[in-house]
Amino acid sequence: MQAMVLKKLKTPLEWTTLPDRQPGPGQIRVKVTACGVCRTDLHVVDGELPDPQTPIIPGHEIVGRIDAIGTGVEGLTMGERVGIPWLGHTCGLCPYCRMHRENLCDHPVFTGYTRDGGFATATIADARFAFPLGEAGSDVSLAPLLCAGLIGWRSLAIAGDGKKLGLYGFGAAAHIVAQVAIWQGRSVFAFTRPGDVATQAFARKLGATWAGGSDELPPEQLDAAIIFATVGDLVPLALKAICKGGRVVCAGIHMSDIPSFPYALLWEERQLLSVANLTRQDGIDFLRKAPEMGIVTHTTTYPLKNANQALADLRAGRFDGAAVLVP
Ligand SMILES: [Zn+2]
Ligand SMILES: [Zn+2]
Repeated sequence: MQAMVLKKLKTPLEWTTLPDRQPGPGQIRVKVTACGVCRTDLHVVDGELPDPQTPIIPGHEIVGRIDAIGTGVEGLTMGERVGIPWLGHTCGLCPYCRMHRENLCDHPVFTGYTRDGGFATATIADARFAFPLGEAGSDVSLAPLLCAGLIGWRSLAIAGDGKKLGLYGFGAAAHIVAQVAIWQGRSVFAFTRPGDVATQAFARKLGATWAGGSDELPPEQLDAAIIFATVGDLVPLALKAICKGGRVVCAGIHMSDIPSFPYALLWEERQLLSVANLTRQDGIDFLRKAPEMGIVTHTTTYPLKNANQALADLRAGRFDGAAVLVP
């Protein structure tokens, strides 16, 4: 197998040939056909997540076909198309797992962070954490659903059912969540980097009621806001934009420090929350509904070998929607 491997933090990934791997008990091997690129991959490369491991193959929005099955795997077949998400394994024993909050598991394994991921021609996954994808939709169009879509879906649920929704940072996740929210009958207010008129136009094209810079206040008060950008300065700005009793949800795994702000911004039962990871149930619910919601993912594809370019373009905001690597 070939892979783009992070051998040392903060260095470019290296094209590497590795011995083919065999699935252990309960595992499957998947021939990767597409793997989305996520902001979290940048955090992995930059060493911004706790206890970074190297060498590691990043990538946790994996679409592929099963080409080897370990012992004890049930319900999956050779050649079946599956998706492999960020949550790669949970312990099943800790208090969070037992409370059906496996997204908070004390001993998790994360694809592309603590276990090798999908910037590769093949990957090994725990069969219980793989989602059957059926045959509708292309591999490339489905890949971003596996993190950007899923985390967005969970964030949207946690944001409550307010009608006026702000999205701060209009990248891969927001462009999917916006479509879900509009399908649910909500109005979307999109906030981009100040002056990024191209992304603001992209948001309006997807149906946003309003789009502007993150330094602006929306034309009306919002019921809730989700922050996808990794910028802590946005937290007080989003609190300022929501109504009494509204919610601000931080959806990223990493964020720069939140500056101090007057208590008045939180007062009147405004809530500030974060979203961590996903549960398998989130995946099942979202992927089942995705076709009827008519989500169209906007993707820019790169050959697997050009993963460093895809990461650089993501960092610089050079494309709208999501980047997807194709082996
Ligand atoms: Zn656990
Ligand atoms: Zn991700």
